[in-house]
Amino acid sequence: MKKYELPPLPYAYDVLEPHISKEIMTLHHDKHHLAYVNGANAALEKLENGRKNNFQGTDVKAIERDLSFHYAGHLLHSIFWPNMKSGGGGKPGSALADKINADFGGSYDGFKAQFTEAAKTVEGIGWGILAYDPLSDQLLTFGAEKHNLLLGPGTIPLLVCDVWEHAYYLQYKNDKASYVNAWWNVVNWDDVAKRFDKSKK
Ligand code: MN
Repeated sequence: MKKYELPPLPYAYDVLEPHISKEIMTLHHDKHHLAYVNGANAALEKLENGRKNNFQGTDVKAIERDLSFHYAGHLLHSIFWPNMKSGGGGKPGSALADKINADFGGSYDGFKAQFTEAAKTVEGIGWGILAYDPLSDQLLTFGAEKHNLLLGPGTIPLLVCDVWEHAYYLQYKNDKASYVNAWWNVVNWDDVAKRFDKSKK
């Protein structure tokens, strides 16, 4: 079986300050993301062991549930880190800007408001997500619960905003809206544009 690995943070822990604190980034990457990597690997290992004795005493349903959760957590965090940078924010350019305008009623502001609502209104824990849908060749937003629920299968996440409490509580307490508003200041649109170009191929 192949193992998942924790990717290094592509910048120092403190560069997203004042919008996201060094303490949050350190715990979030080194502890939380790592836990999803380990959880996904543990699930694969349990399946491997289960195959050896024809799944006698192996709760495959529970393991697959764990795999879905931890795999999705690993995947989304792996996109979340490069989706941000010091001195980010602003608006997307080039083909991505045109596509956002085409798919969200002609304006970037319309997209931004929709994504912000999706992120802020996630019940409990989850993600705001901008994804490319190859089925209809259009961009969609989702408010995913946990890491793996209420997402369109087969859609490709381009821009993701973690709205689990571990992503903001140490700095913003219960003010999720302020966190999401501040997060727009660190969005790395170059990375999002790269993902969009790749998703079309
Ligand atoms: Mn997280």
